[in-house]
Order: sequence, then structure tokens, then C-alpha cells
Amino acid sequence: MSRTVYVNGAYVPEEEARVSVFDRGFLFADGVYEVTSVLDGKLLDFHGHAARLERSLRELDMASPVTMDELLAIHRELVERNGVTEGMVYLQITRGAAADRDFVFPDPDKTPSTLVLFTQSKGLIDSAAARTGIRVISIDDIRWGRRDIKTVQLLYPSMGKMMAKKAGADDAWMVEDGVVTEGTSNNAYIVKGNKIITRHLGTEILHGITRAAVLKFARESQMEIEERPFTIEEAKAADEAFVTSASTFVTPVVAIDGVSLGDGTPGAVARRLREIYIDESRKAAI
Ligand code: PMP
Repeated sequence: MSRTVYVNGAYVPEEEARVSVFDRGFLFADGVYEVTSVLDGKLLDFHGHAARLERSLRELDMASPVTMDELLAIHRELVERNGVTEGMVYLQITRGAAADRDFVFPDPDKTPSTLVLFTQSKGLIDSAAARTGIRVISIDDIRWGRRDIKTVQLLYPSMGKMMAKKAGADDAWMVEDGVVTEGTSNNAYIVKGNKIITRHLGTEILHGITRAAVLKFARESQMEIEERPFTIEEAKAADEAFVTSASTFVTPVVAIDGVSLGDGTPGAVARRLREIYIDESRKAAI
């Protein structure tokens, strides 16, 4: 059975889901997005994702075609219609389709934003990556300077995943000015002694919704946290490492640039945080 997709106010079969070739998301990557995970048919941290979406829109002077309450209703309707018990909801808002291709932003009164949502069913809890851990390589971070805005400009992260694949690894950590910013689609952490170290927030990284939740749970569990830059050399010498994202939760990193961390298996801190994150988010899911 075909999936139901939401496009600009309508629930349509995926074969009929269309946006214009003049859409600025297509022509200029002039769009923002969010990915919200689903467990037991419920949304994880919807309000965190909605708040970040509103911020992304504000930073880009982009109008939202719906309120956040309406957005919640659309998420729920899609999850229901597609029978998603485990997986995610992808949402994208672009600055719409203006009459002609023009770098200048169109008048929002004449060009409404485009809103698209679709679901993907996928096992999130039981993943090979969580069981064995992932191997990352380091690559230069050559992205633009406003990585705190969740835009659809994902070409370089996509290239980073391909560089990792070619190198026989699973993902890449990006390095700028000698320090790690984040993973291609996740936030990066190392553990040394009893300290969890992760880059501080700023315009250089995406403010992960999972990052915020995991750091909160870690603090509540009396773990020590340092939000500061770290180098790849420091990471290679760490006891363990992990990444976080909405769709992968907490995933252990077992090797960096071919150097195994600890005994080369998922570390205890990453395993524990994954468990706490899944338990707590599941309890709070809506
Ligand atoms: N950093 C980047 C570059 C990402 O693409 C993502 C995932 N969208 C994250 C971090 C993690 O963010 P979240 O926990 O909100 O999924």
C-alpha cells in the first residue's frame, strides 16, 4: 500500500505528492527541515523539534504556513494513516515557488511557503550500529557558517558519508580549526575518565534535540559534562566516544581514523546513555 504524504494542506498518495520545479527548496536549498522519531506510534520530543523549527524559520525570515499545534496534528495524522509504530516523520518548509528563478526572496504574501511531511517506518531501537558501534573518519568541515540553522543544504554531509563509505567506515566527524565540530548528521562526544566532552553550542554546530536531552539525563545521573572543543588526537586517545541524533538516539563510536577506542567495542557510558535516553523519551512521547 502506498504511503500517504502531506503536501500543502492535502494528504495524498506518495505517487501524487508533488512540488513545483520553481520551488526555492529545489532551486536554492532555501528550506528548513526537522526529523522527529516515532516509538510505539508516538512522537519523541515533538516540542523540542517544533521550537528549533520556529527558530530556523525566524533566522531565515521565512514564514510558517501552519501553527505548531497544527503541525503536531499533521504529524499524528500521518503516523496514524501510515501505521508507523517505529520510524520517523520528516518535515520540510521552503520559501515556496515564486514565478521566476530570482535570488531575491519573494514577497511572502504572494508566495506561500511550501510544507511537506512524510513518514519512514524503520526499526530504531534494535540497530546493528548500536550493537557493534560505528567507525568514523575525520574530514574537513567546509560547510557554511550558520550550522545552527537546520537547512536542507545537505550536500557536504552527504559527501562526507560517501568519503566514510569509501574509506570502509560508517560516518565522518568534521574538523575545523583543528577541533571537531560534529558528525555529518549527528553531534559528537568523547568520554575520558568520568567526563563526557562535547563541543559547546554556537553557530558552528546544529543544536541537537537529542544532545539537549542526553546531556540533561547525563547530568541527572551525576555524570560530569564538559562542553568545549576537542581535537581528533584527543578523541583517538579517549576511553570511548559516541554520537547522538533523533533517529539513531545514542550510538557508540568504536574507531576514529582507524584507531580503536578502548577495547574496540561499545563503551559503558554510551550504552547506559542510550538505555536512559530510550526509556525516558519513550515515557515522555506524545
Ligand atoms: N548535527 C547535524 C549536522 C545533524 O544533521 C543532526 C541531525 N539532524 C544532528 C546534529 C542531531 O540533531 P538531532 O538530535 O536534533 O537529530
